[in-house]
Amino acid sequence: MFEKSINAYEDAKKVIPGGVDSPVRAFNSVGGTPPFIARGEGAYLIDIDGNKYLDFIQSWGPLIFGHCDKDIEEAVIRTVMDGLSFGAPSVLETELAREIVEMYDNLDKVRFVSSGTEATMSAIRLARGVTGKNDILKFEGCYHGHSDSLLVQAGSGMATFGTPSSPGVPADLTKHTLLCEYNNIENLKKCFEESSDIACIIIEPIAGNMGFIPADIEFLKACRELCDENNTLLIYDEVMTGFRTSLKGTSGIVEPQADIITFGKVIGAGMPVGAFASSKEIMAHLSPDGAVYQAGTLSGNPVAMAAGLTSLRKLKANPAIYDELNAKAVRLTSGLKEVANKYNIPFQVNTRGSMFGFFFCDIDPKNFKEVGTCDFDRFAAFHHGMLKRGFYFACSQYEAGFISTVMTNDDIDACIKAADEIMKDM
Ligand SMILES: *Cc1c(COP(=O)(O)O)cnc(C)c1O
Repeated sequence: MFEKSINAYEDAKKVIPGGVDSPVRAFNSVGGTPPFIARGEGAYLIDIDGNKYLDFIQSWGPLIFGHCDKDIEEAVIRTVMDGLSFGAPSVLETELAREIVEMYDNLDKVRFVSSGTEATMSAIRLARGVTGKNDILKFEGCYHGHSDSLLVQAGSGMATFGTPSSPGVPADLTKHTLLCEYNNIENLKKCFEESSDIACIIIEPIAGNMGFIPADIEFLKACRELCDENNTLLIYDEVMTGFRTSLKGTSGIVEPQADIITFGKVIGAGMPVGAFASSKEIMAHLSPDGAVYQAGTLSGNPVAMAAGLTSLRKLKANPAIYDELNAKAVRLTSGLKEVANKYNIPFQVNTRGSMFGFFFCDIDPKNFKEVGTCDFDRFAAFHHGMLKRGFYFACSQYEAGFISTVMTNDDIDACIKAADEIMKDM
C-alpha cells in the first residue's frame, strides 16, 4: 500500500541527498519510507498511493486553516495573476506588517524574509549590531534554523561555549554561542558570569523542537531580568508558536516580553515567509535606515504576503479560534493519555492553543536531556501503527503536533480509537 511512495523515494534518492530537501522528512528516527504527498484536502493529506491521513503536522505548523483553505487559495491566485515577484516595494508588505505590529505594544516595525532561518539569523545580527556585543546565548534543544552560529552542541563541562554540531561549521563561529540548559535558572546565571559580552538570549518561549515543552514562567522572568541587567536583548523565536499558541503567540500568554520577535510558518500560511520585528529604536539600526546590513531578493514576495495577510486577517476576525483549537488539542491529548493509562504505559501530554505534544516517558521532561530518557522504540511503534491507520504524526518524539480549524471532534475520536488498538499491544 506504500508501493508508489517506495519507488518515488528510490527515484528521489538518486538525485536529491537522502531523497528529501529537509532531513526530518526522511523518517530516519522512526524508520520506513516517508509517504510522498500528492495533495492536501482540509484536515487530510493524500499520498501518491491514494492513502489518506489526518494531518497533525500541517507542513510543520503553517497551515492553521488546514489544506486548500478557499480564502487563502483565492487571495494567492488573484495575486499570482499580477506577477510573481517585482523586487520593488508592494503595498501588501505594508498591510501585513501593519496587521502584525498593531497587535503588540512592544513592536513597531517588521522586516520580512523568506524563512525562519533567515529571520533568526537576521535578528541575531541586529542584536549584535545594536549592543555592540559578540556572544549569543541559546538553549539546548531549542531550534532556530540552520545558520552556522546556531548549530552548536554542549562541549565538555557545563555552561560553556558550544562546539559545532555539524561538520562545515567552524569552531571559531560557535565559540561565540553560549549553550545553556532550558528551564535552568542557575545555569543561565552562570552563563552571564562567564561572559559580559552577550548580545542576546534567543529562546523558544514554548519549545516545539525538543518535543513540546513550555518554559517555566520563572525561567522567562529570569531571562528578562538578566537581559535588563546586562544590556542584552531578549529574542523570542516565535517562528513556530507565533499565531499558534494564541493570536499573539507566546507573547500573548506569558508576562515577560521580548525585545525582538521572530516569525515564520503561520505568517506565510504555507508560502515561504519569515519576519523579525522590534521597537522603532532597535529597527532603526537596520539598513537602509541604519548600518546593520540585511537583504533578500524575494523578501516580502507579493504572493507570500497575500497568503499570510489573508490567514492573519481570518485569525484576527475570529480570536475565539484559539479556544476551539485548544479544546480539540486537549480532547486529543487527554484521550491518548487515558488510553496509555489503561495499558500502564508511561505517557506525558501538554497543550498550548493549537499546539500539543506527548512523550512516552516516566517523567514530564523539562529540558533536552530529559527528553532523551523517553522510550523511542515505543514512539516508533506508535508512529508506524498510526500511520498505517491513517494518522500522520511527526516522525520524531522531538517534534510538536498541530491542530487545524478543519479537524473535527470525530476525527480526533477516531484517532484515539486507533491509538487504543496500538497501545493495547505495546
Ligand atoms: C521552523 C523553525 C525555524 C526555522 O524556520 P525555517 O523556515 O525552517 O528556516 C526557526 N525557529 C523555530 C522555533 C522553528 O520552529
